[in-house]
Amino acid sequence: LPTQRSFDGVDTCADVQVPAVTGAGLTVPLATGAQIQYANLDHAASAPCLRAVQDAVDELLPWYASVHRGAGFASQVSTKVYERARDVLREFVGARTRDTVVFTRNTTDSLNLLARSLPKTTAVVLFDTEHHAALLPWRGPWVRRIQTPPSPGDAVLALDTALAAAPTGPRLVVLTGASNVTGELWPIVELAEVARRHGARVVLDAAQLAPHRQIDIQAWNVDYVVLSGHKLYAPFGAGALIGRADWLQAAEPYLAGGGATKQVVNWGDRLGVSWSAVPERHEAGSPNVVGVHALAVACRTLAENWHDIEAHELALLHRLRKGLRDVPGLAELSIFDGPRVGVVSFTIDGHDAGLIAAALSAEYGIGVRDGAFCAHIATRRLLTKVGSTEQRALRASLGLGSTAEHVDRLVNALRTLVTEGP
Ligand code: PLP
Repeated sequence: LPTQRSFDGVDTCADVQVPAVTGAGLTVPLATGAQIQYANLDHAASAPCLRAVQDAVDELLPWYASVHRGAGFASQVSTKVYERARDVLREFVGARTRDTVVFTRNTTDSLNLLARSLPKTTAVVLFDTEHHAALLPWRGPWVRRIQTPPSPGDAVLALDTALAAAPTGPRLVVLTGASNVTGELWPIVELAEVARRHGARVVLDAAQLAPHRQIDIQAWNVDYVVLSGHKLYAPFGAGALIGRADWLQAAEPYLAGGGATKQVVNWGDRLGVSWSAVPERHEAGSPNVVGVHALAVACRTLAENWHDIEAHELALLHRLRKGLRDVPGLAELSIFDGPRVGVVSFTIDGHDAGLIAAALSAEYGIGVRDGAFCAHIATRRLLTKVGSTEQRALRASLGLGSTAEHVDRLVNALRTLVTEGP
């Protein structure tokens, strides 16, 4: 990735200043009844809210009102806030000025909207290690799920081969920026270049990439990008689909209802409906103005701090991976053995992931995720690759609220649990 910097070999981040998050310093109960500071190592699922976002939401709450529909001052404020957020999102991902920004509920919603809006004959190509949100929505006449190869170079070749076999007509390649299982970065630029050569459009699932790295869809030759506010340090309920307007404009509205219509008239026993242009075409119903504002403020805050965010996360990631290597029987899951954001999944020989996760919570106040991470094919395959017969793994994921103490607590707890048992 053009933005990938190297902070390898540095395992503390004392001199960087990252944006503050809410929830830092929260205490949680242990099984003994004692209280301990919560070590949230589950940012890949949802990240706690930024303080800047909390302040912005507090400021807007007394004012939110109907968007695009009211003449009152509060409606004017809400409409302005909502429309300004589109510009923030466009800038956040380096979109073209003519790209549309459709606000959705989250990444899943955005990908389903795009899937629903494709021209009927679109051939779709993707890798089978995708998160289910990117794996499942495609219903066209030709959908090719490539078995993910073991190296980025092979992935580029495999995509080339799949596209060469695709029928003529519209084509879409679905790519993930960073794996939600391993955190590994995908060779987006190289894959998008292959797509371009075959006349295919590219949609980038940036759910995991966007909280960690600056995105530039123009420079990367990507046509659409999707993301979720709750992974970007904003509350739940707002996400976006950003990209080329033409297919979205030609498609039936995602939802039918108010806000998506220019005019509705009665033609005897039929209704004559004239639908709005994008983005309103796909945003029927009263929009989530507070959520969208929170998302935009989060994006603006991250965009002002990329250098420190990367330095913080990569230093802690280095510390975490170094520590995990010393836990007996622990095997890290990896697709490419390549650079990654602050997400690490692993299995521990002879230990059930669910029991370890429960013990980390009850005995150490540490929150991690266990399971197959809504990427069942990827997780099972990667477990098999390290010789495990388990169906579930553990995942620790870092974020702005993570500290060296959280990482050390996890590593020490795992060592104790593995040697003494949960
Ligand atoms: N894509 C990836 C890579 C993810 O990690 C996730 C969530 O974990 C999603 C898509 C779906 O995101 P959401 O649940 O916000 O729709």
